[in-house]
Amino acid sequence: MPRLVAAARPTDAVLDPVSLVVVGLGAVGRVLAMHLARLQPRQLWLIDSKAYSNHSLLNQMISPHEVGLNKARATAALCSQISPRTQVWAGATSVEQAALAPFAAADAVLLATDHIAPEIFTGQLCHQLGKPLFQGSVHGETLTVHARCAANDSASAPCLACGLSAAEWAALERDARFSCEGSHDPSRAGRWAVPATMSPSFLSAMAADLVASQLLRWLLGLGAPVGDTVVEYNLYSHASVVAPLRRNPRCPCDHARIAVKHPDAALSQRTLREIAGIAGFVGASAETAVCFEVEDWSWVERAACACSSATALERFVACDDAATPAACAVCGTARRPAPFYSHRRVPASVLGPQLDVRLRDLADRDARWVRVSSPERTILVLESFGTQP
Ligand SMILES: [Zn+2]
Ligand SMILES: [Zn+2]
Repeated sequence: MPRLVAAARPTDAVLDPVSLVVVGLGAVGRVLAMHLARLQPRQLWLIDSKAYSNHSLLNQMISPHEVGLNKARATAALCSQISPRTQVWAGATSVEQAALAPFAAADAVLLATDHIAPEIFTGQLCHQLGKPLFQGSVHGETLTVHARCAANDSASAPCLACGLSAAEWAALERDARFSCEGSHDPSRAGRWAVPATMSPSFLSAMAADLVASQLLRWLLGLGAPVGDTVVEYNLYSHASVVAPLRRNPRCPCDHARIAVKHPDAALSQRTLREIAGIAGFVGASAETAVCFEVEDWSWVERAACACSSATALERFVACDDAATPAACAVCGTARRPAPFYSHRRVPASVLGPQLDVRLRDLADRDARWVRVSSPERTILVLESFGTQP
């Protein structure tokens, strides 16, 4: 790397200790990850649940032999070859189900998905953790690229979702119906009915170039401040615009900051009462106003089948879990979470005696994070960095 004009420190010295997370390894994220690997940071976490398809060959910078491979794993293999000194991890999972430890340890998060739900999830997570978030996107029809940066440096700063339009929120409302309420069709798991980005590969690569350069400017403090800006570049006019990313007072996201605590043993071995203790909520009981969020799961008090109204289930169930609650022993149909008895955020009072049951015995998978909140504060209890996603 050249010694950049106006850089206070040598570029390599700044980049050597950096940890980065990339969410989405498609048309934009793939190129971005390759750029980042060439900066040779200390750590690179790549997250994407999907695989490259034949169609990907036309708009994503992949080789034919990568068709059929998971995007995160295939890109991680490439990044490891480009930069052997970088620790590269692949999370072949959706961002909602990814381990949160890399986010808590990251110096910056880079986002390149074309679906609004993971954008909002990542935007809110980074705001809560105080992590700068860079997002690259394209508008294929008008040959326009965008690079957004949410600095997330204070509770009053804008989150990424503050910049969403009413139409984008409406799209989320429309599509969210299919996620948690009733439908457990695995083919719909994690899918949102938003059209995939149609864009020539060079446009997506430009978005990646723009995001990588914004990240470098931010890390090195080059030029005008990068935080809380949106850069737009249009190829019809070759005009570029830099606009502020502003806090939207009507943004429905929770802008509260959260502190992170690490347990000294696996969370799945703990009870929620013990986890509340780790979070500093001593004596969490049915009387206190403590609430829990475990992964992206819902606490399902009751589930319904074809033959009965809702009967007790009392387990955590993932929204898009293919393993639905066990079928009804009488009618054999799947038992589905009953909407009025399913809680994304479950109060201690609803959990009752289950507060003292190990998490392992309340869910089909091992939990890696739990968010514990009261009206005054929120604490994220998170298994330490190094836990594989
Ligand atoms: Zn917001
Ligand atoms: Zn039944």
